[in-house]
Amino acid sequence: MPRKPFIAGNWKMNTDLSAAKALAGQLRESIGAIEEVDLAVAPPLPYIAPVKDVLEGSRIAVAAQNMFYESNGAYTGEVSAEMLKDIGCEYVILGHSERRHVIGESDEIINRKILKALESDLDVIFCVGELLEEREAERTMEVVERQVKIGLEGVARSFGDGRTLPQRLTIAYEPVWAIGTGKTASPAQAQEVHAMIRKLLGEVYDEQIAAATRIQYGGSVKPSNAAELLSQQDVDGALVGGAALKVDDFTAIVKAGIN
Ligand code: PEP
Repeated sequence: MPRKPFIAGNWKMNTDLSAAKALAGQLRESIGAIEEVDLAVAPPLPYIAPVKDVLEGSRIAVAAQNMFYESNGAYTGEVSAEMLKDIGCEYVILGHSERRHVIGESDEIINRKILKALESDLDVIFCVGELLEEREAERTMEVVERQVKIGLEGVARSFGDGRTLPQRLTIAYEPVWAIGTGKTASPAQAQEVHAMIRKLLGEVYDEQIAAATRIQYGGSVKPSNAAELLSQQDVDGALVGGAALKVDDFTAIVKAGIN
C-alpha cells in the first residue's frame, strides 16, 4: 500500500495572534487545496482556535504541540486531549525533543500521553531521535528503538471504530542534533533509521502495520534538501520547524512532497 506523504509545520513558541492568523491565511492560499499530501500546522496553544477558524474548510489540519495525560482536574497549567478536540484540534505532537530535553519528559510520560491522545480521538505525531553524543557513541539505533518501544507500550493495532494504528499515528524521526541547527541528516542517514523503525514496527505489531505507518523526517528540513529527503524509500513526509514559519519555504517543501 503506498503511503500518502504527510507534512506538518511546528510553529513552536513563535508568532503572535495577528502573525499566526496571517501565516495561516497565506498557507491556506498557497497550499490549502493540495490533495496529494496530508498537511497540518501546530500553532502555539492560545492561537489554535483562531488558526483553526482561518483554516476551516481547507486541507490543512491543526495540531497541538503538547497535552497532558489526564482529562481534567487539579493539574494547573496543563491542557487535556478532550480540550484540544473541543477546539478543533485533529493532531497532537508528542515526544518532541524540546519536551524531552528542555522540559524533561520521560519515555514513560510520553507513552501515557500517546495512550490518552489515541483514546480521546486525537491523532498523534510521535517524535523520536538521538542526541549528538548518542550518535557519536554509535547508540542511535539503541536509543530510537527504546523510545519507540516504550512510547508505544500498550498501544493497540486497531481501534473500536475500525481504524488501524497507521491511520492514527505518525512517527517523526528527528535527530536532536539536526533540530534548529541547520545541520540535516543526510538522506542515507535518515533512510537508515527510518528503515530500522519500520522493521521494529513489524516486530512489535506486524508487517501490515509496519508497511502502512508513515514516518516523517524532521531536522532542518528546507526547500533545498526536502526533495532528496522525501525521495527516500521509508521517508513519508516531514515535520518542519523553522521553515514552517515562512510561507514560501513551507509551500516549497510541501510541493517537494508531491513529486
Ligand atoms: C522541529 O521542531 O520539529 C524541527 C524539526 O525543527 P527545525 O525544522 O527548525 O529543525
